[in-house]
Amino acid sequence: MKDKRTLINEFKMQIPSNSINEGFSRKVFSAFVSMIDPTLSELADIRTAVSEAVTNCIVHAYKEKHGTVYISGKYYSDRTVEIKIKDKGCGIPDVKQAMEPLYTTDKTGERGGMGFAIMNSFTDKLKIKSEVGKGTCITMIKHLKNNAED
Ligand code: ATP
Ligand code: MG
Repeated sequence: MKDKRTLINEFKMQIPSNSINEGFSRKVFSAFVSMIDPTLSELADIRTAVSEAVTNCIVHAYKEKHGTVYISGKYYSDRTVEIKIKDKGCGIPDVKQAMEPLYTTDKTGERGGMGFAIMNSFTDKLKIKSEVGKGTCITMIKHLKNNAED
């Protein structure tokens, strides 16, 4: 049977792939999900997952170039939150490999290869769609508990 959840609220935004926008997108998501009273740990999970995804667009997708990061958020009557973070950058040749903990293409030694592992463990579902030369779209789903269960 199909679920009967309804969309309660949504937003869309486009931001330049500038490192200052990592913090900005985290704040936007905090404000957005705060409207449905997440627990502190749910909020922290979402903030971290968003940061990781946006950072990947900034440092990997567009590298030294600049591009646009497309972000959208939705939440539903069943307290499901959907986060989408998309770029039109270089794309990922092997998504399965990229998802492996500690896998990184970074040569500077600054990256630990843990971004996707973090997104995966801090949300309930992580979907990665990517095409080389076209870009990457990350969808994350997080089911928030009911307030009464806090
Ligand atoms: P960390 O996130 O720990 O700083 P990392 O970014 O290398 O390190 P992941 O976030 O797990 O680790 O990403 C793994 C690899 O997947 C990256 O090194 C990069 O090669 C590739 N990747 C991730 N996101 C994108 C993206 N949006 N566009 C292109 N390549 C990406
Ligand atoms: Mg990363």
